[in-house]
Amino acid sequence: MAVIFLVALGWFAARETGETAAREIDQNLSHRITLYKNFLQRELNQVDYIASILAQNPQLIAALQPNAVGRYIDVANNLLKTANQKLETATVFLMDKNGRTVAASNFDQEHSFIGKNYSFRPYFKNALEKETGRFLAVGITSYQLGYYVAHAIKNGGETVGVIVIKIDLRHIQQFTKDMDGDYFIADERNIIFLSSNKTFELKSLTTISANDRRYISRTRQYPIHKIETLENHVSDTKYGQFNTYRINYNEYFVRKVSLEELNWTVWLFAPTAPIRNQALSSAIGISLIGLMAMVAFYLLYKRRKDSERFQTIVDNLPSGVTFFDNNLQMLICNEMVKKVLDFPDSLFHGGLPSLRTLLRFNAQRGEYGENNPDLVIAEQIEKAKQRIDHVFERKRPDGTILEIRGVWLDQGLITTYTDITDRKKAEEEAMRTSGYLRALLQNMDQGVTVTDENLNIVFWNNAFFDLLKLPDHLKKPVMKYEDLIRYNAIRGEYGPGDPEQHVKLRVQASLKFEPHKFERTRPDGHTLQVTGKPLHIDGEPFGFISTYVDITEHKRMATRLRKLANTDPLTELNNRRHFTTLLEREIKRSRRNGNPLSLLLLDLDHFKTVNDRFGHNCGDMALKAFADTSRDILRDIDVIGRLGGEEFCIFLPDTDREGAYILAERMRQGVENIDLVSDKNEPIKLTVSIGVAMLDNVMGDRIEDILQRADKALYRAKNEGRNRVC
Ligand code: GH3
Ligand code: MG
Ligand code: MG
Repeated sequence: MAVIFLVALGWFAARETGETAAREIDQNLSHRITLYKNFLQRELNQVDYIASILAQNPQLIAALQPNAVGRYIDVANNLLKTANQKLETATVFLMDKNGRTVAASNFDQEHSFIGKNYSFRPYFKNALEKETGRFLAVGITSYQLGYYVAHAIKNGGETVGVIVIKIDLRHIQQFTKDMDGDYFIADERNIIFLSSNKTFELKSLTTISANDRRYISRTRQYPIHKIETLENHVSDTKYGQFNTYRINYNEYFVRKVSLEELNWTVWLFAPTAPIRNQALSSAIGISLIGLMAMVAFYLLYKRRKDSERFQTIVDNLPSGVTFFDNNLQMLICNEMVKKVLDFPDSLFHGGLPSLRTLLRFNAQRGEYGENNPDLVIAEQIEKAKQRIDHVFERKRPDGTILEIRGVWLDQGLITTYTDITDRKKAEEEAMRTSGYLRALLQNMDQGVTVTDENLNIVFWNNAFFDLLKLPDHLKKPVMKYEDLIRYNAIRGEYGPGDPEQHVKLRVQASLKFEPHKFERTRPDGHTLQVTGKPLHIDGEPFGFISTYVDITEHKRMATRLRKLANTDPLTELNNRRHFTTLLEREIKRSRRNGNPLSLLLLDLDHFKTVNDRFGHNCGDMALKAFADTSRDILRDIDVIGRLGGEEFCIFLPDTDREGAYILAERMRQGVENIDLVSDKNEPIKLTVSIGVAMLDNVMGDRIEDILQRADKALYRAKNEGRNRVC
């Protein structure tokens, strides 16, 4: 419809000269560019305004607490999601003071911003330093051109995070499409980021300096490798007083305007070619006037839509929001205000009330206690006149707790009222629980530390200090893991070597955030078992928890138990089971390396008689004396065991038959020479018979084979008169 109307207008247009046509085009460009500028500035200011309202939101502040529980994050995510839908923006997200995204409107989407760190973006740094930050860039995650408006979030005077609203510049493109003209917008570095002509986008109007190049790649503003220079200069042709430009080898009339605050330049241009055709040129002139009317209409429509949009977002905030102008007259108030403050509709019958009216209403219903209403009102008005940002909690007569935050803008005071009764209760509950947990951890015998992803030890208990015998001067609420390691390395806890090398290796190992468990024996002989378990949020490591247990006693017990299980209690020699295990192991080894292995089987002679004559106790004493003698005579590599009663076995590794006989003979003599007397002082004579056998693969090299051969030899020794070696 519109197009037919415009063409018809053009058709009936009078003939004009080139200069008149040029003037018309120029006038049109100049009107359009004013509209354009106003549109852009209003659009962006509004986003600023909303960012500053969101920055006051207690739900978002709660989500930024260092140990924010999952529930706070959920609340923040949903709030941002709603805000993003109502605002029709691309994304709204919340960063902590290190630049990590803790909540985002796209939290439930595949390419969510949650957990991502965008601290390298200038809007973040600017928000931290100057409270607000704006930045234009191609999204790292979305690849969409976006404009980011960031606002610092403060709590108790300290910056705790940053709220960011990202707007999709398609919005603006949609608007300019309706304007039906050629345009581009260049940023402060003369790079065109938006144009009616796609081929102009990401082209540079001047050669980019090395500095700018570095800035663009550091902030990842645009894909730098794609940026080329766009040919443009003032051309020789003039239409009367009107200059023309050559852009990419075509000739245009151009109007430029800069958006001061943003450092952007908007170029509107119209081709000169049609002017050469007189009839057509007039048609364009007139058509453009028609177009102007359409644009104005569109803008009116758009403005109404914008303010509706603004009202919806304010209405949908989970907090009450009011805006008082500088005369303390209320201009904005959402439904939530009436709800949380229990304001009756009658209070709003004569339009929005002034601050004075509200204060009076509150004072009269006893909201400020028993104080004199006039005094309270005067005091509050005086306070407001000082224009100081404030945040405080107020307990209402019905017991609910409100958090009230006020921030002064140039145009007036924004105040948010949030019912934090539940949150307060949850916080108190959390404090109690964390108190119990702390007490529990402090009173454990185990040492416990929690180390964050930057290797700061953020929790430790006293047992940790006691077990590691650390000095008190290291006791700080947060200590550096590296300092602790260095202290240990210097006092020789990790053995010899360069302390700095120990520090480096251990820090590197920790940064892998892998589970670990090891034992470390301290120089004082105590053994610690150290266990580390990494902690994760959404798959990203955020530190590890370590426990330290003194296992010295445990190890001692284990050693004792092992010994008890393997030895014969009377003689403290290996018992049969353990001896057999050792012998089997030695047979295998001997088979492998071909070295000889000898075995002696010993049986005390007429031992029954010893018992009969001197008593069982003396028999036991004799068995012990035998064990002592064998310990004296045998070499370290020889292994003896008590097979049972007064029968013993010895294996001699790497010993041939000749060596075995020599040793057996030495044993025989040793037993013969044992000097032993009974309790009645009678001498006890002991002798032993010994059978010798060799491991031999012809005769059989299983344990039963060799024992059988030794037994035969022993039998012979007994038969041939005892006290001998066979
Ligand atoms: P021989 O071997 O020379 O033929 O005669 P022997 O008297 O040693 O014969 P035998 O093997 O039959 O007797 C072994 C005796 O050893 C039987 C038992 O009284 C004694 N004996 C076995 N174990 C112990 C012990 O733990 N303590 C004491 N006191 N005596 C033991
Ligand atoms: Mg016997
Ligand atoms: Mg015997």
